Amino acid sequence: MITVLTGGTGGAKFVDGLSRLLPAEELTIIVNTADDYRWWGLQVSPDLDSITYMLAGILSSARGWGVEGDTFHCLQTMQKLEQPAWFSVGDRDLATHLVRTRLLAEGHRLSQATEIIAGKLGIGARILPMTDDSVETRIKTAEGELGFQEYFVRRSCRDQVHGVRFVGDSRSRPAPGALEAITAAEAVLLAPSNPVTSIGPILSVPGFSDALARTSAPVVAVSPIIGRTAVSGPAANLMAAQGLEPSIVGVVDAYRGFLDMLLVHESDAHAGRKLEREGLEVHAADILMRTNQDRLRVARSALALARRNVVSTAEVE
Ligand code: GDP
Repeated sequence: MITVLTGGTGGAKFVDGLSRLLPAEELTIIVNTADDYRWWGLQVSPDLDSITYMLAGILSSARGWGVEGDTFHCLQTMQKLEQPAWFSVGDRDLATHLVRTRLLAEGHRLSQATEIIAGKLGIGARILPMTDDSVETRIKTAEGELGFQEYFVRRSCRDQVHGVRFVGDSRSRPAPGALEAITAAEAVLLAPSNPVTSIGPILSVPGFSDALARTSAPVVAVSPIIGRTAVSGPAANLMAAQGLEPSIVGVVDAYRGFLDMLLVHESDAHAGRKLEREGLEVHAADILMRTNQDRLRVARSALALARRNVVSTAEVE
């Protein structure tokens, strides 16, 4: 079994590549839920939805979120009714939020609701929210604390960030099966996702860091940072706000204590060699995913790296 930890955008592209290389039943995906948002009275889980839609083959390729070919009649009508309309929800996408909200109201846990929705969409891989409990990312700015969607969507990441915290993390528990998916895996892969607001919340749930340190599976990350910049989104700024260097050095610091191998971009090969002196295995490749072929290539590189290590560990034993 291969277990992946991920957010929604960079992670979804990587998961798409993996899903085309592995039998569905061998893939478990643990997804950030600290961006979840209550919108129009509905429970929206943006990262779970991106992964779910990607694996169902219905993620909008142009937008990178929501359903391909969706319409926005409901959103337009909400605008007419002078309701909040800064968070775009398409009409087909809305159905997922309606079903999730109803399942939760009926007493299902988020992990159960996620499994039911994935099953109805014909997905064979196992998608697990990081937790069934409420953990919420809060972004500290000069304007005060913002919810993640307020910072990311409503204010287009324009605020200078002074720090990030996760409300509810210390009381939260990993979703059923999530820790076992890490300790029993053949390999654990950290998707090229935001280390602060996508992987960070997963690591803030008590138990995950420890399971990653304990597992005998190699833990391999794909860097979301190339040079000093994020491929997309605010990862570099958020890392700096958290005292992490916005570079592969900061990525390694974010994953210190459990990371075995890091896949970096070819242009970071030199910086990677310095990290190797600290005992980390660093490999350079083209880790940009612009096309479907790119996704396959990056997923294949990460898998090959992990599997080579599984073999060498076995040989040593
Ligand atoms: P979010 O929940 O939507 O923020 O999604 P993720 O955290 O999964 O993805 C955002 C991160 O993915 C950003 O830090 C990007 O730098 C990174 N990313 C996006 N596309 C690529 C890519 O093609 N290659 C790599 N290596 N990283 C990427």
